[in-house]
Amino acid sequence: MSDLEDRLAEVVGEQHVLTDPDLKAPYETDWTRRFSGVARCVVRPADTGQVAAVVAACAEAGVPITVQGGNTGLVGAGVPAGGEVLLSLGRLTSLEPVDTLEAQVTAGAGVTLERLQQHARPHGQDVGVDLAARSAATIGGLVATNAGGIRVVRYGSMREQLTGIEAVLADGTVVSRLVGLAKDNTGYDLTQLLAGSEGTLAVITKVRLRLVPLLPARAVALVAVGGVAEALDLLAAARAGLPSLAAAELFLAEGLDLVRGHGRLAAPFAEPYPAYVVVECAARTDPTDELLEVLGECEAVLDATVASDVTGVAKLWAYRETHTEAISAAGVPVKLDVSVPLRELAGLVAELPAAVAAVAPSARPIIFGHLGEGNLHVNVLDAQDRAEEVTDAVLRLVAGKRGSISSEHGVGRAKAHWLGLSRSPSEIAAMRRIKAALDPAGLLSPGVLLD
Ligand SMILES: Cc1cc2nc3c(=O)[nH]c(=O)nc-3n(C[C@H](O)[C@H](O)[C@H](O)COP(=O)(O)OP(=O)(O)OC[C@H]3O[C@@H](n4cnc5c(N)ncnc54)[C@H](O)[C@@H]3O)c2cc1C
Repeated sequence: MSDLEDRLAEVVGEQHVLTDPDLKAPYETDWTRRFSGVARCVVRPADTGQVAAVVAACAEAGVPITVQGGNTGLVGAGVPAGGEVLLSLGRLTSLEPVDTLEAQVTAGAGVTLERLQQHARPHGQDVGVDLAARSAATIGGLVATNAGGIRVVRYGSMREQLTGIEAVLADGTVVSRLVGLAKDNTGYDLTQLLAGSEGTLAVITKVRLRLVPLLPARAVALVAVGGVAEALDLLAAARAGLPSLAAAELFLAEGLDLVRGHGRLAAPFAEPYPAYVVVECAARTDPTDELLEVLGECEAVLDATVASDVTGVAKLWAYRETHTEAISAAGVPVKLDVSVPLRELAGLVAELPAAVAAVAPSARPIIFGHLGEGNLHVNVLDAQDRAEEVTDAVLRLVAGKRGSISSEHGVGRAKAHWLGLSRSPSEIAAMRRIKAALDPAGLLSPGVLLD
């Protein structure tokens, strides 16, 4: 081991500095298998003090750091490009008691979303963000990517849940603001600055989160519609008529075929339809009647199946939630995550296949996403050798419709080159100045977000 590794071992213990290639391997490739790089070593600190000492040692040695939580990120931001110290936050699993008066909780950055949900629910509280990677994605990672997911239509993204943060800056300084005051206008908001910063400004060690009331009664409808325009008509009807609306998710016929093949799922309807929407309502008492009334009155609905029992709800959600997994099993996709104003959504879905085919004729685009935010996950299979061209074609189409090239997954390494399609030169220059102020030597997650 070199001087730096020796020093890191003194801080975290020898067994938590991994240099063996086999032990490092799981940390070096991302969930999509598109991004990988060799880490100089993997370091696994146990608490904030150890994180600060690790960061300070790397800063002194001038060695860059890649920050990693659960490694479920989809834009290559949590894996090394090559030669960095990989700082894994997975052991920061402290959990404070749920504060039922403030309806808040403080969690270590390495606590998984599922663990936090289990912690909050016995107290009648819940986490406002939920997503399919809940068993591995960490709270630190969710904040660093400003994750969205299936509840944004009701509670907003991760930044809306944040009331405080503790973090280690690039020189090892600890900044902490975990009181969780509901009102606090005392200058720049470092907590919000770190939401969506993708490991480039600081290492998040603890997070204070607002909780939402646990709504135990759920009703879910899988609704068949004629296309994206009709799905939007249903969304408008749901927004107007369903105060209990908790999720509105979209997928298309090609995606249904793929998940059915992957998960051996039965066909949800007697005949296939062009598009499907999962509508979920959540309330303290059974919202099924409210949901059925809206579906009965909405002309866009061609067919629907509704469930309110735990097994039935899980079965309907499986058609939507296994998309990412089924796509990954079918090959390594070019993964894009975009959003456009809702009025542009149908046009985008209509134009996407031709835009992709123009640069990758045998590619298979699979499109699904979060309808309420106009957020599409565009996964292009059989196009790995044309990844650059496909990315360029799709992101330019989206930018032409005033959209975002990264709706919720972040920019990472995958889209750093295209940031200028969504952000103006002056915005990017301001971001660079913030980065230079907080991380002057550029040691935190180099190549992520700002290439
Ligand atoms: C099946 C599946 C479904 C998904 N669904 C959604 C979805 O619906 N919505 C959505 O938004 N995302 C989704 N994702 C993406 C992913 O789960 C989120 O981006 C998640 O927030 C990443 O958390 P993580 O702990 O795995 O972070 P990692 O993947 O380890 O890291 C992601 C980024 O956060 C940074 N980071 C991690 N921890 C810290 C920390 N403590 N301090 C500073 N920076 C840190 C990393 O450097 C990197 O830039 C999905 C992923 C999968 C695999």
